[in-house]
Amino acid sequence: MSTKYQKTESFNRLIEINEEIENLVSEADRIIRNDFKFEYNRASSYWIGHINSALGLNDRAICSMDNSINSIKKYLDEEEYTYSELVEFAIWLESRNGCSRYATDYEESIWVCDQCEEVDVDPDEHDHEDEDEWED
Ligand SMILES: [Zn+2]
Repeated sequence: MSTKYQKTESFNRLIEINEEIENLVSEADRIIRNDFKFEYNRASSYWIGHINSALGLNDRAICSMDNSINSIKKYLDEEEYTYSELVEFAIWLESRNGCSRYATDYEESIWVCDQCEEVDVDPDEHDHEDEDEWED
């Protein structure tokens, strides 16, 4: 089973694939429309239209690629990172108060505690579990 970090990378690749298909179909559409007009009506009514529907570019598909992408996105948003996968796979950004911040995506990052191995902590508010025990 993949970790959330690996699944997020797979998800990003899925989005790239979606964009590539969209670009290629749009290019094919343009080529046929410009240079092979005699075939355009049939092509755009059938295979070009079907692929665009399957991608979710119109509202005709019961489940489009776009629907799947949104469903996977929702699933990933609810899934949590584990401490060990972040340390292993994510890019370290900074450390403060025994905690480290890791980049999980192009624009997202998450703080973890290196002492408690806890995920999603606030480095300025976080109290280490071990310190509480020492104080007693
Ligand atoms: Zn801690």
